[in-house]
Amino acid sequence: MNHNKLRAILLVATFLVSPALLSSLSAMSDDDVSPRVAELHRRAIVVDTHIDTPMRLLDEGFDLAPRDALGHIDIPRMREGGLDAAFFSIWVDPRKYKDDGAVERALQLIATVYEQVERHPNDLLLARTAGDIRRAHREGKIALLMGLEGGHPIEDNLRILRTYAELGVRYMTLTHSINNNWGDSSTDEPVHNGLTDFGKQVVRELNRLGIIVDISHVSDKAFYDALEVTQAPVIASHSSCRALVGIPRNMSDDLLRALAKNGGVVQIAMGSWFVVPEYDPFTATDEMKEWRAERDKRIEEKCGEDSKCVSLETLRRNLDYQKVIPRGTLKHITDHIDHAVKVAGVDHVGLGSDFDGVPALPEGFDDVTFLPALTQALADRGYSDDDILKILGGNTLRVMEAVERVAARAQGR
Ligand SMILES: [Zn+2]
Repeated sequence: MNHNKLRAILLVATFLVSPALLSSLSAMSDDDVSPRVAELHRRAIVVDTHIDTPMRLLDEGFDLAPRDALGHIDIPRMREGGLDAAFFSIWVDPRKYKDDGAVERALQLIATVYEQVERHPNDLLLARTAGDIRRAHREGKIALLMGLEGGHPIEDNLRILRTYAELGVRYMTLTHSINNNWGDSSTDEPVHNGLTDFGKQVVRELNRLGIIVDISHVSDKAFYDALEVTQAPVIASHSSCRALVGIPRNMSDDLLRALAKNGGVVQIAMGSWFVVPEYDPFTATDEMKEWRAERDKRIEEKCGEDSKCVSLETLRRNLDYQKVIPRGTLKHITDHIDHAVKVAGVDHVGLGSDFDGVPALPEGFDDVTFLPALTQALADRGYSDDDILKILGGNTLRVMEAVERVAARAQGR
C-alpha cells in the first residue's frame, strides 16, 4: 500500500478506533524514524522540563485522556511521542496576579495536576524524585512533575515556598518576564542588580528543600548571582542559544559555559521564536506585529473575560499564526542542541519544549508526537546512543539526583 493511501485510512480511522490502537497504527506509519532509533527512543527515559498545559487544565477544564486537535500534548500523543516524564509548569501571569491572587492561582493549577493523576492512574504517576521517574518508566506510565514558573507566587515568603515543596513542586524559575521583588528578569529593566539578599536566601532555601533552581527568564546578572550561591546544579528549564537567536531569553556562550561548570543542564526550548532567527518577537516585522495585534483583538472581542474561550481561541488562532510567520523546521531545534553541546558539553544539554506555551513550533515538530523524529535527527548528526540517552533525559535525572543529595545533607537525612 502506498503511504498516502495508508495515511488517508489512518485519518478515517482517527474517528473510528480506540486511541490505543490508533497510536500504535500511526506509530507504524512514521517512516521517517528507523527501527533502530525507534528502539533507542523507547529505551530512553525521555524528560521534558517545560510544558504549559496546566493553564488549559484549569481555564478550559481540559482533560489529558482524549486525543485533542488543539495544543501540543495529551496522553495518547505523549505515548506516541515516547515522552516518559513531563514537568508541568505552574505558571502564574505576573502582570495579572501582581498584587494578589498569585498563591490561589498556583494552588489551583497544582490541584489540576493532582486531578489528572487521580483520574488516569493507569497512564500517569505524580513524581517527586528521579527514582519516581525511573519507576514510572518501568511501569509504563508517564511521570508528571511540577515546576513553579516565576518566583512571585511565593509572595516573598519562605514558608509559602516550603508549602509548594511539600505539594511536589520540583523546580522554581526565579522570575518570569518581569522583575519580582527580589530578582531581575531578562526581559525587564534591571532594578536589583541581579538577586537581592533575599533572592539569594531563596536560592539557599530551594537547595535545602530539594527544589531545582531554574534560571530561565532571569537576567544574566541574576544567573551569575544564583550560581554563586547554589550548592547544587541548576537548570535552564526552557532556553536555547543566544549565539544562534539573539533574544535575551536564550543563553550566551559564556552563560552556557558557566552552567556546565556548575554541573547544570540547559533544556533546549523548541518554540519557533527560541530557535528561528527570522522569527524574533522582540524585533518582529510590522507585518508580524500587525497580525499578532489583530489576532489578540479578535480573541478579546470574541471572548472578553471568558478564560475557557480565550484559551481555546488562542490555540485555534495559533494554528493560523503558524502559517504566516517563519516557523522554521526541525533542523533549527537540532542546530541549537548541537551548539549547546559544542559549547557546554554533551552532559549539560536536555529538552524543555515549552509545549502549550508557545504560539508556534517548527515544521516537522508540530507536537509531542514528533519527539522520535528529533531523536532520529540527532542520530543522523552522528550522536552516539549514549549521548542521545543523556540529552533525552539522562542529564536531567543526574541533576535531580544531585539536588536530592544536597537537600538530604542539608536536612540531616
Ligand atoms: Zn516561560
